[in-house]
Amino acid sequence: MIRIALFGQPGSGKSTLAQNIAERLHARVIEASTAVVFPIAAHVKKLPNEETLIEQLRQLSKRKSFASREDAMNMFDRLRLKYGADFIARALHELFLENSKQPTLVFSGLRGIDNAKYCRLHNDFVVYLKVDDQTAIRRLMKSRGYTKQQAVDELKKEQVLYQTKQIEKIANLVIDTTTMSIDRSAKLIEDTIKQWNQMCTHCVNTARNPAIRFMKNGLCHICDTYQTHFDPTHLQEELEFLESFIGTGSNDHDILVGLSGGKDSTATLLSIKQMGFNPLAVTFNLGYLPRTTMPRSKEMAKLLETPHEEIDIRSYIRPIDHASYEKTVALYEKPFTLETKLAFQKAYAEGRKHYSVKCKHSPIFVRTCQLCRRMVIRAYYDETLKRGARAIVLGINEWTNLSAAQSGKEYKVSGVRKLQPYKNKPAVYVFHLPFLLQRTSRETKAMLKKIGWTPPVGEDFIESNSNSCLFARSTERMAKRLLGFHPDSTRLAREVTVGFITKEQALKALGKLHPYKDTPREVLRKAKILK
Ligand SMILES: [Zn+2]
Repeated sequence: MIRIALFGQPGSGKSTLAQNIAERLHARVIEASTAVVFPIAAHVKKLPNEETLIEQLRQLSKRKSFASREDAMNMFDRLRLKYGADFIARALHELFLENSKQPTLVFSGLRGIDNAKYCRLHNDFVVYLKVDDQTAIRRLMKSRGYTKQQAVDELKKEQVLYQTKQIEKIANLVIDTTTMSIDRSAKLIEDTIKQWNQMCTHCVNTARNPAIRFMKNGLCHICDTYQTHFDPTHLQEELEFLESFIGTGSNDHDILVGLSGGKDSTATLLSIKQMGFNPLAVTFNLGYLPRTTMPRSKEMAKLLETPHEEIDIRSYIRPIDHASYEKTVALYEKPFTLETKLAFQKAYAEGRKHYSVKCKHSPIFVRTCQLCRRMVIRAYYDETLKRGARAIVLGINEWTNLSAAQSGKEYKVSGVRKLQPYKNKPAVYVFHLPFLLQRTSRETKAMLKKIGWTPPVGEDFIESNSNSCLFARSTERMAKRLLGFHPDSTRLAREVTVGFITKEQALKALGKLHPYKDTPREVLRKAKILK
């Protein structure tokens, strides 16, 4: 459902514009005064607690309500004083969000910065209609029959009580109705909302994610980059490179395989065995794996007759990573307000700049997987070398080095990442095997069926990262609410991009929220990372 919330000073043209938008988008207009203020002014003598009042409003919506303009204005003020300056927005959301059959609602006649903040926090599309005072005064004199002084007073009162002009700073869209006609304004809102709701024609990336751009062909820039640079012969060469490691280990094993016991890693281990490797299965642990991960990994390693090691990688947490854990958890403890939402969106964009392994900063990682990645990548390198091998294979279904493509250099879609942090030490290669094999989830499923693997009870075949990590799970709900999109959507989008899963499968996995009661801090305390 799309909700548009129109704000502006008296005389900015809200009501006329609301009607125009409603016709364009087949939307229903809900006037705050008609839906909330008039019924209360007409029927409720003594104001009860908020919950009771909203229940009364539900009943009153079936009756006719007459109140004078003056009574309504007084009631506006009384409601604001008793229930807080964002009461009208809360009431409208309570009354119209559930059970509304209309795909689009236009809220009009709400007043003030606090109502606007509430609407923006709850993912309404907030439009602020700007108008210069002279025009507003002229319009009020004409439409309400005010004298000039009355119009001036009205504007002054509005500004003192509701600070309406401040909405300009938080609105999704600002329109100056002094100069722009109603028709053009409505068209601009329609077009902007269309962009705001855009989803890639191929994958599940949306315009809500500030890191995603859209191309003229309707693809997101990730899908577009992939399709431009994909070359199957290059992947064939990389597979041959992988096979060149067979029999090369200086100890017992020629390769490591990351194993979680889930579908992708289990199928990967099976393929590596079939290719003729002598692998060691490893499960890296930062202390917040779900309880089932270790027993399942052991069970799968046993089933595939492969030695298995659990590797505690908490020793890879540096002071700068520790500071990131602390800051990230602190952000997740903030109250659910618009300020927190804006801080989240800023931190999300910022975290993406510190994705590099070489990064020496301690940013907040709204997407917790980016934080874990810092430790995990360094562990891939050290632990692989320690065991006398030069390659580690992962059950990752997407390609590597996307950032190289975006930097505009000569680029080939690749399934191998070279890790060489020190020039005088050997490189370790990380292979994304299912991607190199261009496998689909259907093929993985068929392979696993043969060896008797099925998803554990309550799990789907396709899941977001929070299924396999308690830290991600503890942050998922809040991150999704505050970002307006699932924090793991970029990863699942890429699985769609490469054809591993379908768009429908990704949307289903992203729509699911994993029930979990521990807070991020509790998860990290249990993992002995934070005190
Ligand atoms: Zn896409």
